[in-house]
Amino acid sequence: MSPTNEELKLIFDEPVQKKKAPKHIADFSLEDRKNFAKELGFQPFRAAQVATHYFSHLNNDPSTWSDIPADQREAIADALTPKLMELVTTRTTDGGMTRKDLWKLHDGTLVESVLMCYTDRVTVCISSQAGCGMNCPFCATGQGGLKRNLTAAEITDQIVAAARACANGELPGGPTRLSNIVFMGMGEPLANYNAVIRTLHNIVDANPDGLGISARSVTVSTVGLVNGVEKLMEEGINCTLAISLHTPDDELRNTLVPINNRFNVREILAAADAYEKKTGRRYSIEYALIRDINDQAWRADLLGRMLKNRAAHVNLIPLNPTPGSKWTASRREDEAEFVRVLESYGVPVTVRDTRGREIDGACGQLAASESAK
Ligand code: SAH
Repeated sequence: MSPTNEELKLIFDEPVQKKKAPKHIADFSLEDRKNFAKELGFQPFRAAQVATHYFSHLNNDPSTWSDIPADQREAIADALTPKLMELVTTRTTDGGMTRKDLWKLHDGTLVESVLMCYTDRVTVCISSQAGCGMNCPFCATGQGGLKRNLTAAEITDQIVAAARACANGELPGGPTRLSNIVFMGMGEPLANYNAVIRTLHNIVDANPDGLGISARSVTVSTVGLVNGVEKLMEEGINCTLAISLHTPDDELRNTLVPINNRFNVREILAAADAYEKKTGRRYSIEYALIRDINDQAWRADLLGRMLKNRAAHVNLIPLNPTPGSKWTASRREDEAEFVRVLESYGVPVTVRDTRGREIDGACGQLAASESAK
């Protein structure tokens, strides 16, 4: 589906500005939010009031913020919760059960998020960077390189927008609650570490300081930045970790996930094991099945041996071919054999559904790790 003129106008009309994203309460810890308000000339307690409207009530209409004097509402809202992103376009599929939103940030940067409705949960897949520097050859985002890191508030705002859409009954079936968050949109979350940690606090902190969503419903997916995984387990957040492995052997992984030249398979699995020991959270192994590249039975065998005594779950993702790529998804029978071999080692495995493929939403970089549950 090509963009309409209206959409193109929104995408291209504004010259890209090299200025920093506006600061927002979601960029700060609780203590720093008070200072932020104070520095802008407001009483420190305004920060907590605004946070309550933002995180607990998902209310972005300051005219209804009755705990703040009417003549100050607009100014306080503009200062503490400035508008960070504008909706460029929304595409839906699966009878409205999958919805992809394209957002434009203050400097014209575009990022996307995908909202997926299941019988038992609603998941949002968010972006942590505009573009990505990891350069994995099968991933659409990787081809354009890293444009910039998103701020904590720019990441958080994608989640709050999704939570608001759920609460407002914009999804089929009426008002509901956002239950799961996966960092599987654009970007490598552990390469934008501080902003991602702040976002994780915004997600798990109880109302009114955060969204009060359980850490076990949050999945951080990484190419396997070992130093990042080691730091993450010390944060005490205990979210679910997903490792984008894609092959058990270093030789192929050096090309599929080039950062493997720095952190190899053995080191990454050791870090994931340590994460599991420390947090008690089983981890997922993401594996995009690419026809005749990484889908051979011998690779399944090697992976099965590697994982049989580990607290890992394998998520197989049929490759979503990127435009111009010579690679495609595995044959059905090879996929089935891959599953069978892994199961013969007692390794839990799921083949992920390919939600939103027709709207470029399940392109892997926007796929959810959710089929496991
Ligand atoms: N940078 C992080 C998170 C973003 S990608 C990571 O690599 O984990 C989310 C998942 O989608 C990753 O497992 C990624 O390898 C996978 N993916 C990327 N492109 C894909 C494609 N074309 N088809 C299937 N999965 C893909």
